[in-house]
Amino acid sequence: MLAQRISLLSSPGTAAAREAARAAAATGRQIIDLAAGEVVIEPPSSVREGAIAAIKAGTNRYTDSIGLTPLRKAIAEKLSAETGIAWNTEDIVVTAGAKQGLLDAALAVLDPGDEVIIIRPCWPTFPSQVLLAGAKPVFVDAQPPTYIPDIDAIRAVVGSHTKAIIVNSPNNPTGAVYDRATLRAIGDLAINYEMWIISDECYSSLVFTGTRHESIVMAHPGVRSRTILINAFSKELAITGWRLGYFAAPREIIAAAKKLQSHTTSNANVIAQHAILHHLQVGDGSFEREMHERLCQARNTGLLILSGLHDVATPGAGGSFFFYLDLTRLISLLPAESPVRSTDDIARLLLDEAGLASVAGRTFGDVNGLRLSFGAPPDLLELGLKRMVETLNSLKNRQVAA
Ligand code: PLP
Repeated sequence: MLAQRISLLSSPGTAAAREAARAAAATGRQIIDLAAGEVVIEPPSSVREGAIAAIKAGTNRYTDSIGLTPLRKAIAEKLSAETGIAWNTEDIVVTAGAKQGLLDAALAVLDPGDEVIIIRPCWPTFPSQVLLAGAKPVFVDAQPPTYIPDIDAIRAVVGSHTKAIIVNSPNNPTGAVYDRATLRAIGDLAINYEMWIISDECYSSLVFTGTRHESIVMAHPGVRSRTILINAFSKELAITGWRLGYFAAPREIIAAAKKLQSHTTSNANVIAQHAILHHLQVGDGSFEREMHERLCQARNTGLLILSGLHDVATPGAGGSFFFYLDLTRLISLLPAESPVRSTDDIARLLLDEAGLASVAGRTFGDVNGLRLSFGAPPDLLELGLKRMVETLNSLKNRQVAA
């Protein structure tokens, strides 16, 4: 018999969507995968060269559980340059992706009975990890079209058990980029009610709205002593499978992570650590600029195509690489006898009829949304979105005729 905690974990909805796409592709059909949470692009050569050099040098031993000191130093310098705030080696922990940093944060600050505020729609690992730590997720629904959370709605759920709030900007799945006033207001709440801020900024390099990414510690420097700022190279360098991330936090959290990682994974993969260190030493930023440019173009092309949708507002997609569609109106306009009643039905229909894999919002705790990644190869993205617009626009008439 399994431990109860396993039943607390949500089934991975994105993985299920991709499995359905693979099964459909196995029948010989062309399936366009816009379900993936990763960008399809060759990673920078410096990362690969760094890994190969480390392997050739016979690098194969454990590292410090919180990472190689030169890598922590290089990350501190990178973060200092990006935020304009000084970070030292001692402020940084190297993790096996942002996911491990988030779990470290949850295990370090949460006790059974604690509550954690999570803005919904949300990446499903947030509530799952909170539950794993024995605490309780308390959701606040951010509304379309902006999906920026309402501060009064957050304040309304703060109670005596509230221990932390998870902030994720740029956001997966909604693409929302929180403005400074919102970040400051969340910061004020955290200070007033003595909450930790777990700030997942793993899409920080992917903001498309003219402004640069602003961390909550930049918007509100007063929250630094209560913020665990989590980031990763997974999305920034398109190396999701390499598993390398980091966080910056107060020293007590660093000490806790040192224990936690030492008793769980020992250390992030040593070859990946050397690869990223090499990239940080020799990279000139050209890969990051090229990827940003490619995604910027994909976003523009995609938004133009999506503007052809009837009864569905064009999404904001300010950051990350997701178009998040609110399908409430479209579904409400379908005749009562229509077999299409939900975003799950729409995701299934898109796979069956348009050969397009997407992720229905239920995965993110929102029955009204549909997430599409614009990290897919540009030609496939264009084709996939056009097929989707055609299919969705045909729905109303088709159902009336039936
Ligand atoms: N945080 C968010 C919001 C994500 O969307 C993802 C991956 O999709 C992660 C964290 C996980 O990042 P990593 O692969 O670095 O663990």
